Amino acid sequence: MADLLKDLDFYHLDDLIGQDEKMARDAVRQFVQREVIPDVERHFANETFPLELIPRMAELGIFGANLKGYGCAGMNNIAYGLIMQELEAADSGLRSFASVQSALAMYAIYSSGSEEQKQRYIPEMAKGKLIGCFGLTEPDHGSDPGGMETRARRDGDGWVLNGTKRWITNGSIADVAIVWAKVEEGITGFIVEKGTPGFTTSDIHGKFSMRASITSELVFEDVRLGKNNHLPEARGLRGPLSCLTQARYGIAWGALGAARSCYHCALDYVKSRKQFSRPLAGYQLVQRKLVDMLTEITKGQMVCLRLGQLKDSGKMRPEHVSFAKRNNVNAALEIARMARDMLGANGIVNEYPVIRHMMNLETVNTYEGTYDVQTLILGREITGESAFD
Ligand SMILES: Cc1cc2nc3c(=O)[nH]c(=O)nc-3n(C[C@H](O)[C@H](O)[C@H](O)COP(=O)(O)OP(=O)(O)OC[C@H]3O[C@@H](n4cnc5c(N)ncnc54)[C@H](O)[C@@H]3O)c2cc1C
Repeated sequence: MADLLKDLDFYHLDDLIGQDEKMARDAVRQFVQREVIPDVERHFANETFPLELIPRMAELGIFGANLKGYGCAGMNNIAYGLIMQELEAADSGLRSFASVQSALAMYAIYSSGSEEQKQRYIPEMAKGKLIGCFGLTEPDHGSDPGGMETRARRDGDGWVLNGTKRWITNGSIADVAIVWAKVEEGITGFIVEKGTPGFTTSDIHGKFSMRASITSELVFEDVRLGKNNHLPEARGLRGPLSCLTQARYGIAWGALGAARSCYHCALDYVKSRKQFSRPLAGYQLVQRKLVDMLTEITKGQMVCLRLGQLKDSGKMRPEHVSFAKRNNVNAALEIARMARDMLGANGIVNEYPVIRHMMNLETVNTYEGTYDVQTLILGREITGESAFD
């Protein structure tokens, strides 16, 4: 079988990446090759997440990699993106775990928490000793989180929380849930610890996508929270949306990892598979597909690299991230579907990673703002007209 993690760098973009970033990427690539790939199909088949990898991921500085202080690695955003790419070359579920831990849960506390909350939670989350999840979506509110029905009311010094969150990655394995709710003044965020009375979780089964990732429902029934559970700087929808911007950034990079794996797998396959008189790789229709794949991956890499530069220089806006998430995930999904087709019947079995990536990418296309929602964000940017309502 081909080395599915090998690089794909048609435009020599490596020349534009620093040594430290390459080292971070290569360390994660090696980890993925040795410790993730051998077992990933089993986890996908059994609907389990490889919990045993969490301490190793922490050692590699993956959790909160681009955050500064509080025990985080403080890498730049290019290094962070490259890491996400390597994780997703193995499985989108693994990258989702890292994204939720870092860009959603840790970042929510980092950007909206009190100093005491930051000191208490972020270092332990960086070590992988505390797992986080991020509860925004509800059964009846996905693309329109502003319509959320989860409510918190003041109760003396603290709060009482009621509501349901659904489709929450890491939900049942999380020690710390970031939960978004409406209060009198509007939307705000809370930190709810596992075991708090009235807080229960149940996992969603029967998924055909993201099977090596835990997805849960969170239920809050008269959950009493202290003053210290409230994120004091989380005011309005801007709170959760700023976290989504961070996560979408990692997704834009990550999806290219899955696409790269599919490309290498398809290329290897068509070089050795003979039909009619010669290898499939010798037929024009097949070459066209490979060229389309290479083109889209290379374009996506250039978008990511520039996006990372914008983020590192403080010039990145949410619309830049929407552009990259929309384009790269859509391209990755198309590449995975194309690769699946090129493998013929072998494209539907787990001897090859392609069908797993393809099914995972259906989720990646949907979560953190669907393809169409990113389109509406960009449409509003271009025209000044909001087409959401
Ligand atoms: C495996 C998995 C993990 C997830 N993890 C998390 C998590 O950790 N935390 C979390 O909070 N959420 C999570 N989600 C939820 C995810 O973010 C939502 O599924 C996503 O936002 C879409 O919401 P929805 O499923 O309710 O679809 P809907 O909002 O009902 O959308 C359905 C369709 O309608 C389209 N649509 C919606 N509004 C418009 C409009 N105005 N104009 C045109 N078309 C529109 C959408 O593009 C989509 O095609 C996860 C989802 C999955 C599948």
